[in-house]
Amino acid sequence: MGMNETPSADRVHIGFFGRRNAGKSSIVNKVTGQELAVVSDVKGTTTDPVSKAMELLPMGPVVIIDTPGIDDEGHLGELRVRKAKQVLNRVDVAVLVVDATLGKTNVDEELIHIFKEKEIPYLVVYNKSDLLSENQKINADFPDRNQEPFIYASAATGQNIYELKEKIASLAVTDDLKLRLVGDLLEPSDFAVLVVPIDKAAPKGRLILPQQQTIRDVLEAGAAAIVIKENELSNTLETLGKKPKLVITDSQVFAKVSKETPKDIWLTSFSILFARFKGNLKTAAAGAAAIDRLKDGDKILISEGCTHHRQCDDIGTVKLPRWIRNYTGKDLEFEYSSGRDFPEDVTKYNLIVHCGGCMLNEREMRYRQKCALDQEIPITNYGIAIAYMQGILKRCVEMFPDVRKELDV
Ligand code: SF4
Repeated sequence: MGMNETPSADRVHIGFFGRRNAGKSSIVNKVTGQELAVVSDVKGTTTDPVSKAMELLPMGPVVIIDTPGIDDEGHLGELRVRKAKQVLNRVDVAVLVVDATLGKTNVDEELIHIFKEKEIPYLVVYNKSDLLSENQKINADFPDRNQEPFIYASAATGQNIYELKEKIASLAVTDDLKLRLVGDLLEPSDFAVLVVPIDKAAPKGRLILPQQQTIRDVLEAGAAAIVIKENELSNTLETLGKKPKLVITDSQVFAKVSKETPKDIWLTSFSILFARFKGNLKTAAAGAAAIDRLKDGDKILISEGCTHHRQCDDIGTVKLPRWIRNYTGKDLEFEYSSGRDFPEDVTKYNLIVHCGGCMLNEREMRYRQKCALDQEIPITNYGIAIAYMQGILKRCVEMFPDVRKELDV
């Protein structure tokens, strides 16, 4: 990600779906004004979707996801449908491209059914409308205009492409009431102390995304962010001259930071703030209690939102399993998932511990949480699990009374 870009997780995600012959990629290219190469439109090649972050007027920062053509041909067809369904867990708006001269097929209907089920705002684009005969225009498979948002367009002639963008924009209206990361806890002129360990797992020369976003939100609230390493906390608190409103720490150094932060100063972690931001703090806090119910032989899924972050990787695959084993004293089995590969069936697990999910958008985090809850599997996250095992979770959610209340039940 470039220095000045909107984080991918905060962009409106727009997914394009359709059969290979519907001209989906041509529509995507017309809408974006760019060539997004979906090699998968060639028969027998990859089934992976292609994502691209861009500025798209009149919407602003978006991520365009072009999925491989969905056709009902044997194994590859099935794979494509499955991948497309995975994409649906993270799109905010779905655009289904249909060949106007052929009308909708069963696969299209199946997708529409899923859009509705997942409550994803969607739009059907009848492409190739320039090829419709007069007769077809009157008689052919016209959609029920009262039921379904649709538009006739043509990638070949550019007909209605502008209107199509406007329609997508109207579906992509984002929720203005979205929760803040931390800014709502601070008043102008407050201090927030951020504790950021710089160990060998930290990326060279920069801060990771959750830390950058938190600093940005502190500044947006008109407050001051003081960023320190864990060894400087006591000294900083002594010399500051004024109490900080809150201390936000990396979960790995929770124990030390909790000990050194006076009880009358709020203490929380980056992962707790992100869980709230993504709307899953309450569930994650309740899920952490399942750690106490683990038995010998139980299975735990450790799930990460991306595949390439050494810092989280080290916590997920090495430290967390060790801490959970030590805390429970049980003989536990750990399995791991990363990136987009969150299993649909999680029934074999007794607990899911998810990372902070900073690279996943709110919809995808909500989906994962729902998946777990529907199958009655407790789900928590790294920071919350760590705070729980160290006996400081209640303290770390003190500033969120509704969540704090849950933990007393
Ligand atoms: S593993 Fe999770 S918390 Fe860590 S960087 Fe990736 S998405 Fe963010």
